[in-house]
Amino acid sequence: MAGILHIIGGGMAGLAAAVDAAGAGMHVVVHEAGRSCGGRARSYEDKHLGCRIDNGNHLLLSSNKTVFRYLTLTGALDTLAGPGAPLFPFVDLAEDARWTLDLSRGRMPWWVFQPHRRVPDMRLAELRSLYSLMNAPDNATVVDCLLPGALSRRLLAPFAISALNTDCESGSAALLGAVVRESLSLGGDACVPWFARDGLSESLVDPALTYLRYMQVEVRTQSRITGLDVAHGRVTSLQTPDGDIALGPDDRIILAVTAPVAHGLLSPHLPALAVPTEFESILNLHFRLDEAPQPLGSFAQCGFIGVIGSVAEWVFLRGSVLSVTVSAANRLANQDPDHLADIIWQDVRRACDTALTQPLPARPAAQRVVWEKRATFAATPAQNRMRPGSATPLVNLALAGDWTATGLPSTLEGAMRSGIRAVEALGLKNPTDP
Ligand SMILES: Cc1cc2nc3c(=O)[nH]c(=O)nc-3n(C[C@H](O)[C@H](O)[C@H](O)COP(=O)(O)OP(=O)(O)OC[C@H]3O[C@@H](n4cnc5c(N)ncnc54)[C@H](O)[C@@H]3O)c2cc1C
Repeated sequence: MAGILHIIGGGMAGLAAAVDAAGAGMHVVVHEAGRSCGGRARSYEDKHLGCRIDNGNHLLLSSNKTVFRYLTLTGALDTLAGPGAPLFPFVDLAEDARWTLDLSRGRMPWWVFQPHRRVPDMRLAELRSLYSLMNAPDNATVVDCLLPGALSRRLLAPFAISALNTDCESGSAALLGAVVRESLSLGGDACVPWFARDGLSESLVDPALTYLRYMQVEVRTQSRITGLDVAHGRVTSLQTPDGDIALGPDDRIILAVTAPVAHGLLSPHLPALAVPTEFESILNLHFRLDEAPQPLGSFAQCGFIGVIGSVAEWVFLRGSVLSVTVSAANRLANQDPDHLADIIWQDVRRACDTALTQPLPARPAAQRVVWEKRATFAATPAQNRMRPGSATPLVNLALAGDWTATGLPSTLEGAMRSGIRAVEALGLKNPTDP
C-alpha cells in the first residue's frame, strides 16, 4: 500500500472519512482519544437510569444523502426507525392545539392547500419566508427572513432552532436556507424523519467499525494526538503520550477533531488559521418510567412529538424512556438542572398524556440530565465566516469536522460531508465512487 492515512478523531467526520478512504490504496489508521468512537453522537450505559441512552436525540432527514450513503456502505440502514413518511406530530402547549404536519411527497407542496395537513392558522403568504431564507445574504439572521404568523411560530422558528442550535435572533439565515434548499424545498420525500432505533452507536458507530475491520482499517481508541511536527510545509510526525509517530513521504493526515482541538494542534504552525470560537449547548433530559408508555395515533407512528410553547422541543419515546431535547441551551446555563427537569417533566406530561393509552405518573422513576456544553458551533453569520475549508497550506494535511466550511450547520450530514471532502482534498478517491 502507498503510505498511511492517519485520521485523527473517530467522530462522524473521522469515521465517514475512514469509510470513504478504505480501499482507496492507503493503509488507514483512525486515532480516537476517547474509549470509544462516535464523538458527539454516541450511546452509553447509564448506571443511574439502569439502561443504555444516547448523549442526545438525533433526528435525520431522508435528504441527508451522505449519511444514508454511509449507512448503506456500513450495512446499517435497517437500524433506523421512523414513520416512513413525511409526518411530524406537534403540540402547542401555549395555545392548546395539536396537529400532524403531513407533507405531500412530491415537489409540488399540495399540503399547504389542505388545512388538515398543514400548520393550523398559517397564511399562505407566510411561505415567502422560505424564499427569503433560501436567498438570504451572508449577514442576515433568521428573524430577518421570517414573516410573523403561525407558520413561523409553529414550524419555521422551531425548525431553525433545531437545525442551527442557535436562536433565531442571531442564527444565520443563509445556513438555515441551505437546509431548506436540501429538504423542504424538495418536497416531502426529502423530509422523511429517521432516528436510531436502538441507539446512536448501534446505527452510526458499531456497523462502521465492523466494516472498517473488514476493510483492514486500524481503529485505535484511547489514542490521543497531542502535537504535530511540521517541516517544509508538511507534517513530519504525530506526537502522542507514548512517543512520536514518524510520517513517511507518502503519509497523509485528516484532522477530524473539534474546532478548539484543531486550533490547539495547528496554531503553532498555521497562526492565521481561523476556526469558530463560540459554541451553543444542547440539553437532553432522559426520563425512565417503570412501565413503557403506549403511544397512540401519530405519536405511535413517528416515535416523537414536537413541542411548541415550552422549553422542551422534541420528545422521543424509546421503550420505557422519554427523552427530551432542548437546543440553544446556553440561555439555561445558570438554572438548576433538577429544577429544569421538574418543569420540563410537567410539560412532557401535558404534551404526551392525550397521546398515550395511560397518563404519565406525577414523577418519573428516574431521570438524567445531559448537558452537551459545546454541542455545536454557534451558527451565527460571524461564526460561519470563520469556518476553514478542507485543504490547508500543509500539503499532507486536510481538515474535517462539522465546524469546517460545509455550507451546512453542525449536523451529522455536515460532519460526514466534511470527512469525504477531506479525503478528496488529499487526492484520494474511493474506487466505489462513480
Ligand atoms: C446533543 C446533540 C444533539 C444533536 N442532534 C443532532 C441532530 O438531531 N441531527 C444532526 O444531524 N446532528 C445533530 N447533532 C450534531 C452532530 O452530533 C455533530 O455535528 C457530529 O456528531 C459532529 O461530528 P464530528 O466528527 O465533526 O465531531 P466530534 O463528534 O466532536 O468528533 C471529534 C472526535 O475527535 C476526538 N478527539 C478530540 N481530540 C482528539 C485528539 N487530540 N486525538 C484523537 N482524537 C481526538 C473526540 O474524542 C471525538 O470523538 C447533535 C449534537 C449533539 C451534541
